[in-house]
Amino acid sequence: IALNLYSQSIPEPERIRTYDVLHYDFFISPDILNKNIKGYGKIKLSPLNNGFNKFEIDAISFNINNIFINGFETKDFDYDGKKLNINLNKDYNISDTLLCEINYSCSPQAGLYFIYPTELNPDFPMQIWSQGQSEDNKHWIPIYDYPNDKSTSEIKVELDENLVSISNGYLKESYPSDNPGKRIDHWVMDKPHSSYLIMLGAGDYHIVKDNSQIVPVESYVYKNRINEGEYSFRNTGAMMELFNEYFDYVYPWVNYKQVVVKDFIYGGMENTTATVLNERSYYTPEIENDYSSDGLIAHELGHQWWGDLTTCRNWSELWLNESFATFCNDIWTQKFHGEDEFDYEMLKNQDDATRAQNRVGKFSIWAGNGSLTANNYSKGSVIINSMRKVLGDFYFKKSLNKFLKDNEYGIVETQDLINAVNETVNETSIGKDYKWMFDQWIWKAGYPEFDVSWNYDDERKKIIYEVKQLKPADTLTPVFKMPVDLLISYDTLKFVQNINIEGLENKFEIDFPAKPEFIVFDHGNHFLEKLNYKRDRIEIYNQIIKSEKPIDRIMAIRELKTYPYDNLILEVLINKLKTDEFWAVRYEAALALSEYKRDNVVKSLIDAYSFQNNSKVKRGIVDAIGIIKLSSGESFLNQLLLSEKNEYIISEVLKSLTKILPDSKYPDILISYKDTESHRHVIKLAVVQGLDSAARIKPDEKIKNVLLDIAFGKNIDARVRVESVQALVYFAKDDDVNQKAFQYIDWNYNPMKVALIKLLGASGNKKYIEPLKKMNEKTTVRSVNLAIIGAVKNLEK
Ligand SMILES: [Zn+2]
Repeated sequence: IALNLYSQSIPEPERIRTYDVLHYDFFISPDILNKNIKGYGKIKLSPLNNGFNKFEIDAISFNINNIFINGFETKDFDYDGKKLNINLNKDYNISDTLLCEINYSCSPQAGLYFIYPTELNPDFPMQIWSQGQSEDNKHWIPIYDYPNDKSTSEIKVELDENLVSISNGYLKESYPSDNPGKRIDHWVMDKPHSSYLIMLGAGDYHIVKDNSQIVPVESYVYKNRINEGEYSFRNTGAMMELFNEYFDYVYPWVNYKQVVVKDFIYGGMENTTATVLNERSYYTPEIENDYSSDGLIAHELGHQWWGDLTTCRNWSELWLNESFATFCNDIWTQKFHGEDEFDYEMLKNQDDATRAQNRVGKFSIWAGNGSLTANNYSKGSVIINSMRKVLGDFYFKKSLNKFLKDNEYGIVETQDLINAVNETVNETSIGKDYKWMFDQWIWKAGYPEFDVSWNYDDERKKIIYEVKQLKPADTLTPVFKMPVDLLISYDTLKFVQNINIEGLENKFEIDFPAKPEFIVFDHGNHFLEKLNYKRDRIEIYNQIIKSEKPIDRIMAIRELKTYPYDNLILEVLINKLKTDEFWAVRYEAALALSEYKRDNVVKSLIDAYSFQNNSKVKRGIVDAIGIIKLSSGESFLNQLLLSEKNEYIISEVLKSLTKILPDSKYPDILISYKDTESHRHVIKLAVVQGLDSAARIKPDEKIKNVLLDIAFGKNIDARVRVESVQALVYFAKDDDVNQKAFQYIDWNYNPMKVALIKLLGASGNKKYIEPLKKMNEKTTVRSVNLAIIGAVKNLEK
């Protein structure tokens, strides 16, 4: 999946299997408008122990019509709406095979989603799409819903003739149904995969075919967005070639398909051969510098190896799916945009990791019940890159290849990767054990903090380099070990020295003919660490001005901004902002300047704007002016609203104006942009977020009406609606607001439903308690249940 959440929970023990599913065979007939399906599931399974006389199948809120075991109907089962417990009339042994058939119907509230035109979304198409991860497929098919079991699968789906279908594997056949106007598509997945990866989708699509040589690659795009679709997904085949080569493992499945759907809850989902993507993945050349979905597409494609071919055996091992898929996104960046972009993307991943630790505390990457966190996404990818540095490219890639080969079509845990690394390295050397990497980075948590200093011994021509690792504050944090590169520089003389940091006190003596102008610690930024570098500001300036690697310049810029203002800082940073050849150095220089809340800094930022041809740097300057929060930026920002056409810049300008202007002034500017369409709705989102902060200070009737218009207007994007409903919380006690929330409480998109329920919870009106309680009884989606319970609790106060 692709999405970062800043949350984390405690690992649960792995589910224990009593049987092995050999094959699933489903027949599904959906009724989209009534949000239900008729289903027929055949499960072929084999006992894992002798004396097998009962078993359970996961199925949420099914109406069970009949159950057959080996062709004979049985009534000997219990069903509590969650688990179907079937008793067998005799003992079976591990050599036996059972065929269990379940004839059922259900109205899934999760797992399978129904899209159709509604009163407020009249332009919606007819679609269905499924989302299994973590354990939601049991809402629409009877399965063993846990990743530690793999089987082949097939689905026959009965559809209106005008819709096309998508599912795992290949389309074996397609034939008219006995029901007039309907057709049956028969999809077959003939290699084993986990049940959360089973997928079904349908809609009115144009299929874009990639000219990839490896396997057929198809992208299902909307018929009115074919050009955008062709452009957005044009690199998929090249990504597949890259991963084939990088992992030295040919794409393992029969084909690759990706489908864009409406109201998707995540960024994307890597169902085996049938990825689902959200509508934000459409992009055009015009906005590509500001937004591309290549990263998302590469992430989901990478999962076809990391997650689908090898699958985490329990949710604590989710990093073996997500960190590697995130890393796949990063190596696509490396290939397509080069080393400097890759380095900067890794720094952004590091930023994510430290931000998450500051917000929700310290957790290991190996943890978390399948919650999607900055740990198992961003930080995991950083760690994989650190392991690459430790092992070197050759052994790193060989280890990954061995891991994939040894565990293909299987389930995996961290120890399997340790084995692959150790066995690979020990083919040519003896007795090496890399468990320590996984110990410190995967099972333990946090990152090291280093006090670093150096001096030069003129007589002995030696650098005395000292690295002190601060004593970890808790037992979850290890004392880290890492081989760090120093770049030692004097004039044209540049020298890379690797030092092995181990333990708390480290002292190195390095031969060097003259006193260096600067020494870069962790040259290339391969490791996540907090650095307290005790050195002269001149040395930092030298690193900013003279480093060849942009990432070394960026790290020095970030170091500089911890110093108090002086004119030289301004001069160095403005110079970088105007002239550095790499955009991210310019961007970081702008952000560093935002530390200095002074009118002359604002003036210099404005002056540097005209030097920029990169919209991301322009946005950085606009952002910095907003952070500085002085009114001297106002007229410049207003000017940009007239002169800039780029939607992402306009969105940023609105955000900065919200920060700078007095509360009486900015809502009117925002409101004038409330109907402006933009890519990924970035302008509307800036409007809603700005009105949210205005309403927090002064809930004004005019703001309320605009938010109501957006939340309950026609054909508004779901995320924009949700944010508007969230901002309406400041008006929740107004009857017109809470009545609207109640009127639309059955909204067909769970995040919106949750937002509406929370709004009712804030209304203070006890008349909503009973209807909410009734709704809770019928609800099978945990996030909605939790919202209702919270709202009722609020109202009962
Ligand atoms: Zn993912």
